[in-house]
Amino acid sequence: MAGAKLTWLGHAAFRVEAPSGRRLYVDPWLGNPRCPENEREPERVDVIALTHGHDDHVGETVELAQRFGCPVYAQVELRGWLAGKGLPEEPTQAMNKGGTVDADGIAITMTDANHSSSQFENGAPVYLGEPAGLVVGVEGAVRIYFAGDTNVFGDMELIGRLYEPDLVVLPIGDHYTMGPKEAALAVELLGATRMVPCHYGTFPLLTGTPDACRERMPGCEVLAPAPGETIEL
Ligand SMILES: [Zn+2]
Repeated sequence: MAGAKLTWLGHAAFRVEAPSGRRLYVDPWLGNPRCPENEREPERVDVIALTHGHDDHVGETVELAQRFGCPVYAQVELRGWLAGKGLPEEPTQAMNKGGTVDADGIAITMTDANHSSSQFENGAPVYLGEPAGLVVGVEGAVRIYFAGDTNVFGDMELIGRLYEPDLVVLPIGDHYTMGPKEAALAVELLGATRMVPCHYGTFPLLTGTPDACRERMPGCEVLAPAPGETIEL
């Protein structure tokens, strides 16, 4: 269980690097205010996976996928909408909850989440499916659960039982997602012993902090990398 690297790029954007060197970007909004300058123009992107359709998660997906010719895994409705924005239509990349795809040694499973998923076009919301979480299994290394934007929900226990993640990535900012109090229960339901917080500190509205999590999660190691910092897993 070694060899993968996880880098926080601010907000809900992450890079997972497999031992093979393959790089997965999750929710690549690299224009977020906390993304380090030297991470805004990646040298390589091999795979992209999205949790839902909001701007702060889709980010620069279309530009990145076009530049690097990489696959973009997302829920059916969101993936179809992205095809209308310039990505190739590719049914193998349009998935849904409970499904797992193999992106050349990186397994991506879509799970449930409680949130919304849309973008506003001409003042009206466009339906982009449902929000989701992602379990990312790096071959020969770790399994990471990205909860996506969500509150806590009881079926996190099922996700823990089914996928036994080595590390969980939870939103903690409050306001649009759960804050530290709900995240503590999420950790308990998932049976998690290591957690990386995200979706906090981007704007003043997102007030949750890693320290507030630590106070509430005595049995769980809260790793709080700085934006641009890499954790070796
Ligand atoms: Zn969000």
